[in-house]
Amino acid sequence: MNAATVLPRVQPHRLPKVCVAVTARDGDELIEKAEGLVRDNPFVEFRLDYLTRPGLALPKIKRFMDLHPHIFVIATCRRAAAGGKYRGSVASQIDLLGKAAAMGCQLVDLELQSALRIKPKQLEKLRTRASLILSYHDFKATKKLEETLAKMTPFQADFYKVVPTATTLHDNVVLMKFLEKASYDHSMVGLCMGEQGIISRALSVRAGSIFTFAALVPGEETAPGQVTAKMLRDLYRIEQVDAATRVYGVVGNPVSHSLSPTVMNAAFRRESVNAVYLSLHAKTLKDFLACVREIPISGVSVTMPYKQEILDSLDNTDAHTSKTGACNTVVRSQDGKLYGFNTDIAGVVRPVEQRTSLEKARVLVLGAGGAARAAVFGLKDRGAEVYILNRTSSKAEKLARQARARVLKKADLKKVSFDVIINATPVGMNGKDSPLKPDEIRARIVFDMVYDPQETRLLKLAREKGLEVIPGSEMFVHQAARQFEIWTGKPAPADEMRRVVLMELQERSALRNSKKTG
Ligand code: NAP
Repeated sequence: MNAATVLPRVQPHRLPKVCVAVTARDGDELIEKAEGLVRDNPFVEFRLDYLTRPGLALPKIKRFMDLHPHIFVIATCRRAAAGGKYRGSVASQIDLLGKAAAMGCQLVDLELQSALRIKPKQLEKLRTRASLILSYHDFKATKKLEETLAKMTPFQADFYKVVPTATTLHDNVVLMKFLEKASYDHSMVGLCMGEQGIISRALSVRAGSIFTFAALVPGEETAPGQVTAKMLRDLYRIEQVDAATRVYGVVGNPVSHSLSPTVMNAAFRRESVNAVYLSLHAKTLKDFLACVREIPISGVSVTMPYKQEILDSLDNTDAHTSKTGACNTVVRSQDGKLYGFNTDIAGVVRPVEQRTSLEKARVLVLGAGGAARAAVFGLKDRGAEVYILNRTSSKAEKLARQARARVLKKADLKKVSFDVIINATPVGMNGKDSPLKPDEIRARIVFDMVYDPQETRLLKLAREKGLEVIPGSEMFVHQAARQFEIWTGKPAPADEMRRVVLMELQERSALRNSKKTG
């Protein structure tokens, strides 16, 4: 084909929503990875800049393109100065992209910095060979997006890609508003990098981004905060996200360890609820509150350290929240009001009541923190006789006064027995310690709120004594199920939620063990 022939442009509406970035050291590895993913992913990006000798990979790319004419491929050779790995000149970068286009890649990605350094004719020539994505990445912040686009649009491109970094949750809102406006006039691609950019990774396609990027597998991310294509599809169901999709999430600092996104997205999927649940890492509550109304977010699970702090921002709360002084669930109503609920109480009470009546039951709660408060008030409400034992006795006394419960001294542990003992301290999270010695475990049922590891030392000791045990995952499932009910008005698929929690905990445990051994 001669240089004057203009190829048909790639039509934005024909592109899949997810483009998987493929990196490799040589052409064989690149093609092997691409072959492995094309069945499920008809849209890939070849990162030529990761190859030690990109030129050698070109014939292999050609063979691959001939074999897979139906898939879309972007060739990218990002220079180091723009955040990539390519150390060659701009001229050789353009040359490589042109050759990749000649091998069949329908799209090429060129950063603004390089476009500014070449002659308009060179860019025009490149664009006769493939559709052009003109891109700009800001690895530090989300700012001056309109100004950036204004620098890009004098160059004729098929797609304008603007990728800043989110340092707050609200940066996602800024990016998505920008995309909404810019996509009236241009075919835009945009998302925020960074851990806090997850909102835009899942939602920017409905804000006007033609597609988004994903990693092939964990560890092969080509940008900070990138998630895998499998996560985008299976967890966040990006193919189904539309204007009607409701947004939920877990807000906290940190939240990366939270089981909630896995469990809640599975529940939404099982019950065909058009909703997505995201991890909302908010460094301040103010940042989160600024997003609630703008995204908008329909509901959140609240976790440490915001369970108390959020109370001041709520328009109303349920009785459980007022009693415990802690809120773990927020609903945003149509008129924008925020209502607070506490489902930790259901998380404690439901699994116990499935095994025994709480009316007049003698229950010992270990701990006097947030989770213990939910347990003590919930159990008292159900008519249980509650005892509290805490490392700091003054806190146990205060809670006992507020909830009309009793305090137990450590020395008296061996003298009394209970129907249920509940551990509401973190002791046991290390997989070794138990808050009680074997002769101090005098009860019919032992409930450990610690859920990771699933089988704590306390539960192991209780089992050895032939006692019934309730693992912390049960509390997790029941409090999450109650949240699902509050948000959707539907019964929660608790069995599915339990299955997903247990699978995730097993995977985490296997990962820990493999790290220890390997
Ligand atoms: P918190 O508010 O920080 O309270 C922690 C409590 O544990 C305090 O009473 C503290 O005693 C006590 N404690 C901490 N370290 C201790 C130690 N080494 N020895 C003895 N006592 C100790 O925490 P929280 O929110 O109540 O959470 C407590 C546990 O419940 C955590 O492990 C959390 O993961 C678990 N939890 C599980 C679920 C679930 O869904 N399964 C839900 C919520 C919480 P002092 O007063 O003396 O500091």
